[in-house]
Amino acid sequence: MNDFLIDSKKLSPEALKRKHRLEHDPGFRTDHMQYMEGMERIRSDVMEQVVQQMNAYHPEHYTEADVRAALAHKSCSIEDFKALLSPAALPFLEELSQRASRETGKHFGNTVYLFTPLYLANYCENYCVYCGFNCYNDIRRMRLNREQIEAEMRVIADSGMEEILILTGESRAASDVRYIGEACKIARSCFRMVGLEVYPMNSDEYRYLRECGADYVTVFQETYDSDVYETLHLAGHKRVWPYRFESQERALMGGMRGVGFSALLGLSDFRKDALATGLHAYYLQRKYPQAEISLSCPRLRPIINNETINPMNVGEKQLCQILCAYRIFLPFAGITVSSRERPGFRNGIVKIAATKVSAGVSTGIGDHEEKYQEEKDREQAEKTRLHTVGGEEASGSSSGDEQFEIADTRSLGRMYREIAAEGLQPVLNDYLDLQ
Ligand code: SF4
Repeated sequence: MNDFLIDSKKLSPEALKRKHRLEHDPGFRTDHMQYMEGMERIRSDVMEQVVQQMNAYHPEHYTEADVRAALAHKSCSIEDFKALLSPAALPFLEELSQRASRETGKHFGNTVYLFTPLYLANYCENYCVYCGFNCYNDIRRMRLNREQIEAEMRVIADSGMEEILILTGESRAASDVRYIGEACKIARSCFRMVGLEVYPMNSDEYRYLRECGADYVTVFQETYDSDVYETLHLAGHKRVWPYRFESQERALMGGMRGVGFSALLGLSDFRKDALATGLHAYYLQRKYPQAEISLSCPRLRPIINNETINPMNVGEKQLCQILCAYRIFLPFAGITVSSRERPGFRNGIVKIAATKVSAGVSTGIGDHEEKYQEEKDREQAEKTRLHTVGGEEASGSSSGDEQFEIADTRSLGRMYREIAAEGLQPVLNDYLDLQ
C-alpha cells in the first residue's frame, strides 16, 4: 500500500473503482515513459547524462577523505558534488556552511530576494498521490476570473511586492494557455518580474507566454527516479516522466529568460534526487549559457485530507547539507527556500546558501485580500497596542482549498523587517527590463 494515498470519501462509485484500479493494478496505468499525443519531442542529450550519473551514484561509497578533498578544491567537480551530498559529508556541516556562505557572499552579496506566489486555480487533471489538489481528492475547486486576478494582484502589488509567481493546478481544460497568458499580461502591468509554475507545455506555448510577459518557468520533477515516479503519478499528463524532464529546455527554446528546477525531497532517495536536480541545472546551463538558473528544495508537507504526509528521512540538517552542496557546485544559481520551511530555518539559511524566499504566502485560491487585510489589522492593533499578535493563520472560507500546509506565514512587511534586522539586504527586484 502506498503511504501517500489519500482516502477520498465522496467520489462516485465509478470514480472510486477507477482510483482503486490505478492504485492497485499497474497494468491499468499508461506507460509513463511514452509521450502522449500533442507532446513535443526535442532532441537533447541532457536527460541521458543526468540519468547516467544518477544511476551510477552510490552515496554510501563516499568517505570522509572524499569530503575533505571536495572542500579543499577551488571549484567543485561532479565527483566533488557527489561527495558533498553523501552521508559522509553530514558531520562536516559547519565546513560546508562556511564554504557555501563564502560562495553566496561572492556572487550575491548580502541580498535576500523576496517574492510571493499566487494560485489562480486548483483544478487538476493529474493523480499525484501525495498532493492535495489531485483529481481524486474531495476539495473545494476554484478558478479566479479576470476581475479576481486583477484584484488579487493589486492587493499583492500594493503590499510592495515586485515579483509574482503564478501557479495553477495542472489542468489544461480549466486553465488553458490563453487564460495563463492573460494572467501574465495583468501581472506584467503590476510587477517587474513574472514567474510561472504551471503544467509543462510545448516550446511554442512557452514562447507565447513569454510574449505575454512571463520571465521564467519553474517545473518540479518531483523525483528523478522514473520507477518511483511511476508509482506516485498514476494518471494524467504529468504521468509522462520524460516530457516533464524536458520542460525547462522547451521553455528556454521558447525564449524564457530563466528556468527553475526541483525535486520534492522525501518522495524517493533524496540524495540521488538532489544530485539529479543539480546536474539537470548544470547541463542545461552549459547548453544555454544565457539562461538564469535557479533551484528549489521543497520537502513534503502535510496536505488536506491526509495529515500523515511528512518529509520521510529529510531532516533540516540534511536539507541544509543539500543546499550547501548546491551552492558550492553551482555558485551562480539562485536558490529558493519556500514557506514550507519554518521561519527559523529560513532566517538561518539565507545567511548561508539561499538567495530567495517567498513572503505573504497563501496556497489557497483567491484569499490574498482577506489575508492581507488581516495582516494590516494585526499591524494596526500592534501599533495602537489594543492587543498583541498571536498566530498568523487565516481561514479562506470563501476561497478554494489549499494545496499543502505552509510553515512560515510571515507577511512581506514582517519578513522585510526581520531580514534587515539580521544585517542582510532585502531586495524586491534585481532586474531592469529596458525594452
Ligand atoms: S502536484 Fe501538481 S499536478 Fe500533481 S496533483 Fe498536485 S497540483 Fe496536480
